This record gives sequence, structure tokens and C-alpha cells, in this order.
Amino acid sequence: MTLRRDEWLDLARKVDWSYRYVSEHDMFPPALSGEPWLTHDEAWADWSEVYRTSYSEYVRNQSVKELSVLAVRDALSKPRLHDRLDPAWVQLVKFHQGAFALGEYAAALAELRMCRFGRDSAWRIMANLGALDEIRHTQIPLLLGHDLLEMDDNFDWTHKAYHTNNLIVVATRHFFEDGFLASNAIDIAIQLNFVIETGFTNLQFMALAAMADRADHHVFEKALASIQTDEARHAQIGHPVVRALIRHGGREYAQYLLDKTWWRCWRIFLATTGTPMDYLTPIAARTRSFKEFMQEWVVDQFMRNLEEFEFDLPWFWDLFLEELDYAHHSLQLAHYGYRTMLWFDLPTPSDLERAWLRDKYPTWRQTYEPIWDRIEDAWERQGEAATLTYTLPGLCNLCQLSTVFIGPGKNTACSLKRNGRSYLFCSQPCRWIFEHEPQRFGSHRTVVDRVVTGEAPSDLLDLLVWMGHDTPESRGRDLRRRRLEPVP
Ligand code: MN
Ligand code: MN
Repeated sequence: MTLRRDEWLDLARKVDWSYRYVSEHDMFPPALSGEPWLTHDEAWADWSEVYRTSYSEYVRNQSVKELSVLAVRDALSKPRLHDRLDPAWVQLVKFHQGAFALGEYAAALAELRMCRFGRDSAWRIMANLGALDEIRHTQIPLLLGHDLLEMDDNFDWTHKAYHTNNLIVVATRHFFEDGFLASNAIDIAIQLNFVIETGFTNLQFMALAAMADRADHHVFEKALASIQTDEARHAQIGHPVVRALIRHGGREYAQYLLDKTWWRCWRIFLATTGTPMDYLTPIAARTRSFKEFMQEWVVDQFMRNLEEFEFDLPWFWDLFLEELDYAHHSLQLAHYGYRTMLWFDLPTPSDLERAWLRDKYPTWRQTYEPIWDRIEDAWERQGEAATLTYTLPGLCNLCQLSTVFIGPGKNTACSLKRNGRSYLFCSQPCRWIFEHEPQRFGSHRTVVDRVVTGEAPSDLLDLLVWMGHDTPESRGRDLRRRRLEPVP
């Protein structure tokens, strides 16, 4: 007699047993399994995901998804295919690939930690499938990046980026190491599954996929959409973990992780997705602005999650909403000035793009357009050298980004003294996170700290080499003018 799926699946998902040779506490130590530490019987035995998947279903579904990405890649792999892509869009893809390909690999390791140290077998099985997903999310961008090498050598940053000390990569690596690699199973379920995957990955994969479609980059679109279907499945790990925590006195702790992760995501995604969406996407492909995407895909979903568990809004919510109008515009100006430290090129906004920005962000005309005017003017009258920033930016000791989040009439940077060392922060929420976990973050040094202590070279060209930009071609340029003169 053959058992039907529903007759065996629950039995196969729930294979927890009593340990005879070690205690449950030794089997799942708090440092790796997380806290509050609770016995399986009291807190975890009823752990359950909403959509159940067996291993054979997983393999079948993934194989179909894999083949359909490869089919698009094959159908499109004609010579000169990439010539049709908008040059600014190519920079967006290069930025995205470098910033995220190996971040996905960090997520694979996080899923594997839950696969061993998650407290219920159903959780561990879901995380096992999640780890396989994340390995796939690393391999697909590596493959596409490799294909794109034929048009641009800097697509090697897809793999190379995380092995360098590039300014932006240090920030993304800091974020992924904090949230994924140096975390226990409970923290990972909240940070990665509950906050990042139910909220922010929509921005990456739904919003960016819609833009890729309009930008005629169909293999990239297909890859992003395919990745998102995996995220949606393993993201369900978060909810039952949050539920167990709330039931057993962990509400306050969960709220802290929620607030912390939201803010850290906001900083990283405005830097790596916000700026390219509003400055590198061809106008015809801009289905929405970054702010509109954030409101529609990220904020709404996050609000639903908060309501479901009666969490409070993060205390910095008003600042976050204000920043939707200006933070990524400020950072874009900083990036343009420091473009030699990037592995992709950046344009100054064209007339058409300026009109779009004025329309989407009513304060842009007043706050940012005059600065771009001055840059255009500098190009005109003094040449490229006058459009580059030569002094190093102040970097935030938490998010590692330039402390340039200056809104109209308001500088959000702040500082802190601790054990004789001064720390700089881009904002109160970054300082608040640091103060919550000073042991965790206190000894890390930003790129600028490293220059000051002599660990990194202070000469700009030497520093570029130190950051992985060892040839002039590996450094960012003005996208439309290219480089006109050797940069002093
Ligand atoms: Mn992923
Ligand atoms: Mn994931």
C-alpha cells in the first residue's frame, strides 16, 4: 500500500527525539540556538510552517525553475545581445551583482546554522531547503556575471567584491556578518526571515524585476523573479519563531531585533538599491520611484507584520519616513564625488532625468538640483578634477556609509565617546544600535579609521589599490563623459 503525501509528510517533518547521551541544553547551546532558551516541550513542539514542502517536491519544483532561467539565457545568448542594454542599466546590474551575489552566500550559511541549531525538526528541514535556495541565489548571479564579462571586465566584481575592502562592500559585509553570520538561530529567523525576506527582498526582486523587464534585460528579470519565489517560501520560518518568542517572554527582545534590522536594512538598501533605481534606470523602465516602491512593497508589508503580532512602530519611524525623500539623493551625490572608489560608473542626471526627479520628489529641485548644477558647471569650466571629492568621507561606525544624510536644514550625524575612543554615526538610530551592543561593534574600524591608524594607506591612489581597484579601468567614472584627463 502506498501512503498518500498527507499521510506521511507530517511524520517526516516532525522527527524530534529525546537525547540520551547529551542534555537538550548541550545539544542546542544558547550561543548558537538563541535566547530565550526554552525546552522543546514547552515552546517549540508545535512549531509549524504554513506551506509544507517535501524534499521530492522541492527538487522537482527547483529543477523546473532552474531550467526556465537557463532557457531564457540560452534563447537570448546571441552575439551582441548585451549591446541593446542601456549603458546606465548595465552599471546598475554591475552594482547589484557585486553588492549581493556573495551576500546570498552569507544567507546560505545562516540557513545552515538554523538547519543545525533551530529548535524543532520542521524548522530545521525548512532551513535545509532554505540553504539550498541561497546557494542557488549565489550561483545564478555568478553565472550571469560571468556572461557579462565579455562586455565589461568589471563584472568580475560579482565574485571579487566581497574579497576586497571596497568602501561600499565593507558596509554590506558588515551588515551581512552582523545579521547572518555572527547570529544564532533565533536571531537569524527574526532578522533574515521575518524582516529582510518578508519586507526588503520584495524591493530587490519584485521591484527590480519589473524594471529589468522594461529595460529589456530578460535574463536578469527572470533570475530575480525566480530567486524571489524561493525567498517567499523560506521566509515563512520567521513567523512561527516570533510567535514562540512572544508567548514565552521574548516580546521586548523581538521588538529590538525588529527595530535594529529594519534600520540596518533601510541604510543598506537605500545605498545599494535606492540610488541605482532613481539614478541608473532608463526613464522608460522606471515603473515607480524608489520612494514609491518602499511605500508600496516594503512599508505596507512591514506594517502588516507589526499588526499581526502587535509590535510597536520603531521609535525612529518619523525619521525614516522623512528620509524617504532625501537620504538616497544625498548619498548619490557622495557616490558621484567618490566614483573612483566604485566598480561601476555614475552619470550626472540628464534633463529628462532631472524632470522625473522633480516630479517624484518635490523637494529635489530646491535641495539637490543646485548641487548638480554646480557639478555641471565645474565640468564645464575646470574639467573632471574639479568634480571629484578628494578628502575622505566621514564614515558611520555602525552602517559604515558616508555620514551624508543631511536633510533640508538638518544634519543627522552624531557622535559618542567610549573607552577613550570617539565614534561617529550617520544618525541617532545607528548610534542607538551601537549603544545596545557596544561589545559587538566597538572594536570594528571603518575604512577611514584604518587610514587614520595607518592600517590602510593615506595616499588616495594607494588607497584605491588597497580597496581592490588595482587598475585605472577597475575604477568608476562619469558614465557619459568617461574619463577625460588623468586624475591627480
Ligand atoms: Mn536569497
Ligand atoms: Mn533568503
